Amino acid sequence: MSSAEKLTKLREITAEISRLGSIQALLEWDQQVNMPHGGAEDRGNQAALIAGLAFDKSTSDELGALIQDLASEIPDLDADDDFAREIKVAKRNYDRNARIPREKIIEFVLATSAAHEAWVKARADNDFASFEPHLTHIFELRRQQAELFQPYEHPYDPLLDEYEPGMKTSDVRAIFAALRPRQVELLRAIAESEQIDNSFIKQHYPFDEQRKLGTFIAGRFGYDWERGRLDLAAHPFTTSFGAGDVRITTRFLDRDGMSALFSTMHETGHALYEQGLSPKYYETSLGQPASYAIHESQSRLWENLVGRSREFSRFLFPVMQMLFPQHLGNVTLDQFYRGINRVEPSLIRVEADEATYNMHIMLRFEIETGLLEGSLKASDLPEIWNSRMQEYLGVTPADDTNGVLQDVHWSSGLVGYFPTYALGNLISAQLWEKMVAEHPEIPAAMTEGEFSQILVWLRENVHSFSSRYDPLDLVRKITGGPIDAEPYLRYLNAKYSEIYRF
Ligand code: ZN
Repeated sequence: MSSAEKLTKLREITAEISRLGSIQALLEWDQQVNMPHGGAEDRGNQAALIAGLAFDKSTSDELGALIQDLASEIPDLDADDDFAREIKVAKRNYDRNARIPREKIIEFVLATSAAHEAWVKARADNDFASFEPHLTHIFELRRQQAELFQPYEHPYDPLLDEYEPGMKTSDVRAIFAALRPRQVELLRAIAESEQIDNSFIKQHYPFDEQRKLGTFIAGRFGYDWERGRLDLAAHPFTTSFGAGDVRITTRFLDRDGMSALFSTMHETGHALYEQGLSPKYYETSLGQPASYAIHESQSRLWENLVGRSREFSRFLFPVMQMLFPQHLGNVTLDQFYRGINRVEPSLIRVEADEATYNMHIMLRFEIETGLLEGSLKASDLPEIWNSRMQEYLGVTPADDTNGVLQDVHWSSGLVGYFPTYALGNLISAQLWEKMVAEHPEIPAAMTEGEFSQILVWLRENVHSFSSRYDPLDLVRKITGGPIDAEPYLRYLNAKYSEIYRF
């Protein structure tokens, strides 16, 4: 086979793996949106079949040989061109998938399935002790997986690398060390200020109107309804089955008029990224988003930097007053803006506001690295959790259900994932600073409900590169530097000192 023929063959296989991924995503979307409870067992078997096919295809000897040949024909695999990059990423994906023996994969799937079931029950019963052996087992298996990728600086590195290619534990530690004291200081200043009233939000807002509003705002942001749709799901998410079909979900809460809207703006941010990936790289090794943190930077940018800004409130508030006159008729724009930005240290990560969110992540990162290093045991977790929550946020959970048992991640084997949420927050502020420096007219345009310049900038600088660059290289290319906590801290301090008047 000539090089050109090998490349064609590689792309054929890569496209098939990508399509199997889309089929898997479609099965999952249906499970969370439409499927009756009775479908669970069959759906599990269907999903396992597709996952097995995808695994076999992505670890086949044929694929390995093709990649090996093509890689050896390239003078410099690190060269900054599309072809070298495509082979490099294909090689990395293949190594990652093929290095773990099949029986270890099966062991892991069985362990996570048992752990997930145990977690659901332990959380409902507030019974950490029954989940503890599963947690120990999951971390042991993840540590064994990491060991297959030696050498590394830290056993957490290969796990983090699955979500943030190129990122090291030491990078995350340095970033969090810069962030932690300054966020604690900010929270202290907020706690000493007069609390803001947001009782006008904590009422029942009719769901039909909320849905109309979310649909309207997603469209204004640039979400393409010809290539998407909005449905209800217990835990909102975004999923993609290819460039022409990127779906979002939301959920409406009984006594909260803003939660669904913010979650829709968040998911719209994810979806705009997926809808903006480059057709040039479609279904190739470079066809995916750059990383989880880059993905989260997009959702956070639209949800927070846009959605919770004073400028956007000027546009949003009159629209909401028209839709909900009984709720908002006597509220002023300033009350609205301050109300939607109320800060309140709370126990639950997914409900955390902008000022407290990262603290929840740092706690989880410290626990994950501690368990992998062996400096912590699973049995230490409830105590560590509660004392750090007190130290970082000034609150202590009354039980483990609202503490160490709250997240699904560890029971699903997701170790190394949490930092991407916080990194996404930091990157969103870095992108925003850069964008507004280049286009100072953007904030004023937001007051008019005009967002196209934002989307155009993100398309040009982030979306259209798909995974042409590793996340750290992409951030450097855009901002000229590494992932940096300073822009986010500047943003938080400027925003909350004005809102809380300190
Ligand atoms: Zn997200």
